[in-house]
Amino acid sequence: GRSYEGVGKSFGALKAVTDINLIVNEGEFITLVGPSGCGKSTLLNMAAGIFAPTEGKVFYRGAPVSAFNRKVGYMTQSDHLLHWRTVAGNIAVPLEIAGMTKAQIRERIAELLDLVGLRGFGDNYPNELSGGMRKRCALARLLAYDPETLLFDEPFAALDAQLRLKMQVEVRRIATQLRKSILFVTHDLDEAVALADRCAIFTSRPGTIREVLDIPLPRDRDLFHLRHNQHYI
Ligand code: ATP
Ligand code: MG
Repeated sequence: GRSYEGVGKSFGALKAVTDINLIVNEGEFITLVGPSGCGKSTLLNMAAGIFAPTEGKVFYRGAPVSAFNRKVGYMTQSDHLLHWRTVAGNIAVPLEIAGMTKAQIRERIAELLDLVGLRGFGDNYPNELSGGMRKRCALARLLAYDPETLLFDEPFAALDAQLRLKMQVEVRRIATQLRKSILFVTHDLDEAVALADRCAIFTSRPGTIREVLDIPLPRDRDLFHLRHNQHYI
């Protein structure tokens, strides 16, 4: 897993986050909730190794994380799909970089399309997809990098409420299925509690974690909990 020990980040005189102490175990789903400006994105940027902390340290499997870490997949509100490539072509990018053969790439794309619910859309271009489908495509491409940890910074904020809920449930299902560790930022406490193994609640600026709630329900509770809403989805 990954651990944060007394982690803080200042931008000049501005303290964005201070004294973050958190352990993310392998395969654990953690949601981060807190008011705007409390430093959630700053923490994710440190998790990704994009920003270096100005206090404390981030460790991955016991070793300090210093540079950008390829084991991390990061998803924000913008999906950055290549509009001149098909869905399959977008998902192929990491696989091509990894040097897989054409046959291996074809096989892996088929698996990933199934996983994210896009079977049959491999030959479509991003501008032929709905917003939710573009998110699924971006998620498949992210998973093609085979990251150990996934960082989500409200990636579904631009979607309507029902689609957002559906995508969050999908992320939870995929995370459980693939046993990925997740840090997921959301503004919505109900969703944070529904989806997480643990929920870290931030104070306002400069942000630190006020408490970490253990959510003591079975791992598939999100699907159970959200089943009530399924007729809306
Ligand atoms: P939101 O919920 O609105 O996305 P957040 O919790 O993600 O907010 P951050 O974006 O992490 O908050 O910002 C925390 C504080 O750090 C804010 O005061 C912000 O202005 C400041 N900040 C973030 N990034 C930078 C930067 N690159 N340079 C200077 N200040 C920054
Ligand atoms: Mg943010």
